[in-house]
Amino acid sequence: MRGAIRAIVDKHKGERRQLLAMLREVQATFRHIPADAITFLAEDLDLPRVQVEGTATFYHFFSREHRGDVTVYLNTSAMSELSGGPEVAAAFEQEVGTRFGTTTADRSIGLYTTSCIGMSDQEPAALINDVPFTRLTPARVREIVAGLRAGKAVRDLVGPLGDGRNATPLIHAEVHNNIRHTGSVFFAPFTPGAALSQALEMASLEVIDGVKKSGLRGRGGAGFSTGQKWASCRATEGESRYVICNADEGEPGTFKDRVILTECAELMFEGMAVAGYAVEAKRGLLYLRGEYAYLVPHLEAVLQRMRDRHLLGKRILGTHFSFDIALRVGAGAYICGEESALIESAEGKRGTPRNRPPFPTVSGYRHRPTIVNNVETFGCAARIAEHGWQWFRAMGTAASAGVKLLSVSGDCERPGVYEVPWGTTVNDVLERCGAGATMCVQVGGPSRAYVPPSQFGRRIAYEDLDTGGAVTVFGQHRDLLQIVRNHMQFFANESCGFCVPCRAGNTLLLKALDKIRAGLGTTADLDAIEHLGAMVIKTSRCGLGQTSPNPLLSTLTHFRDTYLQVVRSDVDFISQFNLEAATAESIAVSGHAPVTEQA
Ligand code: SF4
Repeated sequence: MRGAIRAIVDKHKGERRQLLAMLREVQATFRHIPADAITFLAEDLDLPRVQVEGTATFYHFFSREHRGDVTVYLNTSAMSELSGGPEVAAAFEQEVGTRFGTTTADRSIGLYTTSCIGMSDQEPAALINDVPFTRLTPARVREIVAGLRAGKAVRDLVGPLGDGRNATPLIHAEVHNNIRHTGSVFFAPFTPGAALSQALEMASLEVIDGVKKSGLRGRGGAGFSTGQKWASCRATEGESRYVICNADEGEPGTFKDRVILTECAELMFEGMAVAGYAVEAKRGLLYLRGEYAYLVPHLEAVLQRMRDRHLLGKRILGTHFSFDIALRVGAGAYICGEESALIESAEGKRGTPRNRPPFPTVSGYRHRPTIVNNVETFGCAARIAEHGWQWFRAMGTAASAGVKLLSVSGDCERPGVYEVPWGTTVNDVLERCGAGATMCVQVGGPSRAYVPPSQFGRRIAYEDLDTGGAVTVFGQHRDLLQIVRNHMQFFANESCGFCVPCRAGNTLLLKALDKIRAGLGTTADLDAIEHLGAMVIKTSRCGLGQTSPNPLLSTLTHFRDTYLQVVRSDVDFISQFNLEAATAESIAVSGHAPVTEQA
């Protein structure tokens, strides 16, 4: 093992910031992270052992226990749960012969679950040794497991290839783009170099001015002015500056960045280079969520093509501007979508959010001025450089300029990606995607709004229904409280654990919901949920905790009758404690029957 670890460290030139990449390789090689590997990494990198262990135990795709030569991560998002996920899970358990959360005795196959993997338009889906398998059925599971048992490589078990670049050898995935509606920003023809050549004819401050005037706001959900962010970074003194692209879309129901990364990577990378020119940065990083690791060979090839065309590297297009981009791959942590947590992760640490201020534009990656924008934002920035700010500003609404890519999934005939101008109504989206009788539409994922039918005339825009891109349709036949439970479980799982309100509060909220779903709730429990939810929002440290109670609070506002139908108003309190169940559990754990008086 010593030699293997040293080879991994040497491959990454002993750079401490590459610890995450090293741990990914250790996990892939040994199928877990052995204690000795942590010791050797700490020695070779001259890091405290506890720091290496801290990183090794933070991420979902790292494990101290063997996860099998083949590891199945089945997605347990709400869309999976409502699309046959439980039947697929049962088929895996039956065929593999072990339960989820465990590895077979011969260590050949491990079955594990994971949060949304960005395939909500083609659920149920799973990652098997990083390879995505979509639209799974019990029959398909039997086929896959039989292939594994016959010794086939995971890649050879991929079914019919998906559309667009998914079918190219570098991606080779059964994933479908499902691009349903295109516009003039994404998926329109793009000539490599078109954005950079325009930007390089301007002074760098003029580029920033154009982005400000375009009205472009961050597409990841926060909606901060992109031009202002770039101006703040540029105005901060520093020996170097960085441009980071946040490709860690993790909000359940979001997958449009997956499609941009697959089909429009050149546009996005060129947007990063334009940003680099504007803020006088020389280095860019693309932080790719671990769930999209199957796109790495494709993205590396795009970057190399751009270098070959002098669109990246030294003296871009013959000018004095030099800029290059490297990839960083995550390892399964929703919180790393938060920009300061992402920076920590890109530096090889636990993905724990930083205190702010200082903001990343002042002290970001390596404590240098850094801009962090999302995949879609950089794509828009490239088009603004290419066509001018007036062209972009003319689309959308007064407060929401341009277009938005929506990831539409759920109970509709045409799930997929839609490019629409900001200001489009929920009704428009439902009509486009072929939704039938709809109970509610979740705009912006679980952390945002659950919109009832009476509000389907509302507009998708920063000034009304803000969204990072997820639009999930739930039909009238669905169990709303089951959906809410899935989303609360998601937040309880994904809390980084740093602060008590988020760590403990979300678990308590989940328990309160379980009590209601078990028929033991009262109207007083609803009041208690609202009180606790407000406290979690007010006292949590970062955006995750500040939005995590929304599934409960939003549905209590808009769908209160659903709760009132299952809670009692004639009593204040019903105990959840069940003496028989508790005794049975105690007997099972201790192996002793209780001593009674008769005995
Ligand atoms: S709010 Fe939650 S995710 Fe954010 S720092 Fe606190 S515990 Fe971590």
